[in-house]
Amino acid sequence: MTIVVSDKSKLTPKQGSDYEIKKIKVNSQRSLTINEINMAKEVFKNSIDYSKVKIIRGGLLGLPNLSNSAMTPFGKIHLPNQSYNNTKDFGLDSVEATLKLWYIHEMTHVWQYQLGYSNAVAGINTDINGGYTSRALAYDYDLVDKNKKFNEYNMEQQAEIISHYFDTIYRYSKGHDAVNLHASNIRNKTDLARVLSEFIVNPSNKELISKQHGQENYWFD
Ligand SMILES: [Zn+2]
Repeated sequence: MTIVVSDKSKLTPKQGSDYEIKKIKVNSQRSLTINEINMAKEVFKNSIDYSKVKIIRGGLLGLPNLSNSAMTPFGKIHLPNQSYNNTKDFGLDSVEATLKLWYIHEMTHVWQYQLGYSNAVAGINTDINGGYTSRALAYDYDLVDKNKKFNEYNMEQQAEIISHYFDTIYRYSKGHDAVNLHASNIRNKTDLARVLSEFIVNPSNKELISKQHGQENYWFD
């Protein structure tokens, strides 16, 4: 991504040299830490090429900052500036459980993308169809229909299901900051594991990515 070096005050006497410009660029994105890779492997195993994943500060025409949410349309996680600045490593024990779940949610979009899904197209369609309004209906899922396959859930539901399943197996070394959510996930553990049974066996199976592309309409719900 292109970073415009607008803050001249950051430049030292070697103003404008490649070396100094590079130093500023490095701050705008980073690779995953070893802790983050190990944490993601608890669910995605080796189905993701972790070396390709970047965590980026803002970008995408400022959308992550305007919406104050993460966006992962092309296999890279765009965070609002403040979230990027505040969390240097989602895998650290000291990082809250909800932030870890957020990270796993976004990593599901990376997984979808790397297995061939068009997250950007599905995301735009979901937005047009009202899935990202304040009610965020695209994220709601239920596990009542025991015949519903994982690839029949939309991309946001898949990310929620995987992050909630992760919540049931991850060993947090400090307490959970969303007690009700955690309790609900633990209650649903059997159903989460059932809908993810094929994913748990082989997360590299391309058949598992969503067959939906944001075409569902939420405006009339
Ligand atoms: Zn998402």
